[in-house]
Amino acid sequence: MVGGLAVLLVALGLLQYRWMTQISAAEGEKSKARVKDQADRLAADFNREIQNAYFNFQTDVDSWKSNNWAPFNERYQYWAENTAYPTLIREFYFFEAKGDAPALRYDRGVGFVTVEAANSPEITTKLGQMKERIADPKNFKPVQEDLDTLFLPIHLTEAKDGSIVVRTRTPDIPLSLGMPQPYGYLAIELERETVTGRLLPDLIGKYFDPNEFRVQVTDRSGNAVFSQVSAGDADATARLLDVSPNNFVFFANRELMNSIGEKRSSVVVNSKVEAHSFERTGEAKGSNVTIELKGAKPRTSVFTATTTNGEPSGGAWQLGVQQVSGSLDGYIASTLRRNLAIGFGILFLLAAAVAAIIISSMRARALAQRQIDFVSSVSHEFRTPLAVIYSAGENLADGVAKETEQVSRYGDLIKGEGRKLSSMVEQILDFAGANSGKRRFNFKPTPIDEIVADAVEETRSLVGDRDFEIETVIAAGLPVVSADKNALSQALQNLIANSIKYCNGDTWLRVSASNGDGKVKITVEDRGIGISKSDLKQIFEPFYRARAVVDAQIHGNGLGLSLVKQITEAHGGRVRATSELGKGSKFTIEIPS
Ligand code: ADP
Repeated sequence: MVGGLAVLLVALGLLQYRWMTQISAAEGEKSKARVKDQADRLAADFNREIQNAYFNFQTDVDSWKSNNWAPFNERYQYWAENTAYPTLIREFYFFEAKGDAPALRYDRGVGFVTVEAANSPEITTKLGQMKERIADPKNFKPVQEDLDTLFLPIHLTEAKDGSIVVRTRTPDIPLSLGMPQPYGYLAIELERETVTGRLLPDLIGKYFDPNEFRVQVTDRSGNAVFSQVSAGDADATARLLDVSPNNFVFFANRELMNSIGEKRSSVVVNSKVEAHSFERTGEAKGSNVTIELKGAKPRTSVFTATTTNGEPSGGAWQLGVQQVSGSLDGYIASTLRRNLAIGFGILFLLAAAVAAIIISSMRARALAQRQIDFVSSVSHEFRTPLAVIYSAGENLADGVAKETEQVSRYGDLIKGEGRKLSSMVEQILDFAGANSGKRRFNFKPTPIDEIVADAVEETRSLVGDRDFEIETVIAAGLPVVSADKNALSQALQNLIANSIKYCNGDTWLRVSASNGDGKVKITVEDRGIGISKSDLKQIFEPFYRARAVVDAQIHGNGLGLSLVKQITEAHGGRVRATSELGKGSKFTIEIPS
C-alpha cells in the first residue's frame, strides 16, 4: 500500500507539473495579447483626440484667401464644445506657403491676426522654427513633436474639388491622384502639459491597473516624455501622435463615410467632400479609391493629401507598457513557480500525513505489544512475592514455625515481600497518575545532598546481604533547589535500583552530585550489563524493556525510567543516558538550580 501511494504521489506530481506549465504558457499568451490590445486601444483613443484637433480644422482655401474667419470660428467652436480637453490646443498659427506675409495667430472667437512678434523674442524664435519645418513641401511632416505642433496643409483647391486626406502605407508607391499646391499651413500648437499631464494619465487610468502595469512614452530618439517606469523592455508597445488613422475617419461628410465603408474602389457621393482619410489597400495603381462627386459637371477631380509623408509607420511617440514586477514573462514565470510550490507543498503535506499515519500506527502497534508484555511481566513480578507470602503464611498457620525467632523471621519475610508488592503497585499508580495529569508536585526549597542521602538509604535494602559498594560523591556547596523531595528521591531510587538490578555481578555503583552552568547534576553510574545503542533510544518510553533483560528473565515492568523522565521534566530539567554494552551505564538528571 505504501509503495502504491508513493507511485500515485509521484504520478500526481508529474501531472500537476505538466498541467501547470501548460496552463501558465496559455495564460501568458492570453495576458500578452490582452496587454497589446489594451495598449492599442489606448493609442487609438489618444490618436483620435489628436486627430480631432487636426482634421477638424481643415477649412476651405477660399476662407483663408478672403480673411473670412467665420468657417474657422465655427470649427473651433464645434471642437471646443465637443472635446474633453479644451486646453489641448495652445495656439493656432498660419503661414502662407509662398511670399513673405507675416505669420498669423488665432484670436479665439475673432479670427487670425498678425502676430506682434517683435514684442517677444521667444515667439520670434518659435515662428522661425515653424517656418523652417514647412519650407520644403517634399519633406513635409505633419507632426513636429519637438515643437509640440501639428501642421495642416491648406491646398489651393477649386470649388469643384473635394478635399481628401489619404494615407499611403508604402510611400514609394505613388498615388495616382494628383495634389494641388499648398496655399499655406495651419500650425496647431499643442499644450504639452495637457497631453502628458491630463490626456495620457486619464487614458492610462482607463486601460491599465496601476498595481499591475506601468507605462512609459518615449519620443523618436528614445527620450521619455512621460514615465512611470525607469527602464526595461516593454511587454507591449503602440504608436502615439499618429495623424494617419487606420480606419476611415470622417469629420464633415458623414454620408460619405457610410457610402465608402465597405471598401469599394469607386464611390459616388452627393455633396462636396470636406475631409476624410482612408488607407490605400491595393499596391497596383488602378486600385486606388476614386471618389466622384455626384452632380458636378464635368465630374470633379478628386485629390489627396498624404498625412504621413516620409513617416515609416505609426506616430512619433512610442507607448511602452510594462508589468510592475519588471516584465510580463517574469511575472508569469514567478506565478508559475508560486503555483508549483503551493501544489508540491500540498502533495508534500499529503505524503507527510501518510508517513505520519504509518509511523503512528506502527508505534501504536509496538505500544500495544509492550502493554501486553507489561501485563505478563507484572503478573510475573507479583507471582514471586505472593508465593513467598502464601507459603510463609501457610507455614505460620500450620504451626510449622513455633519459635519466636522463627515466627519473627516469617514476619520479616512477609513484611519485606509485602513492601515490594506495595512499591510495585505504587509505581504503577504513579505512572498512571502522571500520565493522566493527576499527579501534583509539591515544590519546596530542598538541599540536594538530602535527596541523594535519602535515595541511597531507601535503596540500601535492595542490596540485601551482598557486599555492594555504593559510592557517593557530593560536591561541596551544592545549592538548594526547588524540588518535590519525595518525587525526586523516587526518581533517583529508580536509577539506583536499576544499577543494582542490572549490575551483572559487578557490585559497584556511584551516585554523584555537582553543579555548574545554572544546573544541578545528579549522576548514577554502574559497571553492569550496559544498554545497546538501539535500546538506548527507547528506554525512556513507558513499558520498554531491552530484549536482553527480558530474555535474561530480570524482573521489571519498563516503567521506572519513564517515571524518572516525567519527574525530571516536571522539575524543568531533563534526564540523559549514556551506556556501552557490557561495560556499564550512566544516567544523569539535570535540574535548574
Ligand atoms: P525496568 O527496569 O522495570 O525494566 P525501566 O524503565 O527502569 O524498567 O528500565 C527500562 C529498561 O532500560 C530496562 O528494562 C533495561 O533494559 C534498561 N536499563 C535501565 N537501567 C539500566 C542500567 N542501569 N543498566 C542496564 N540497562 C538498564
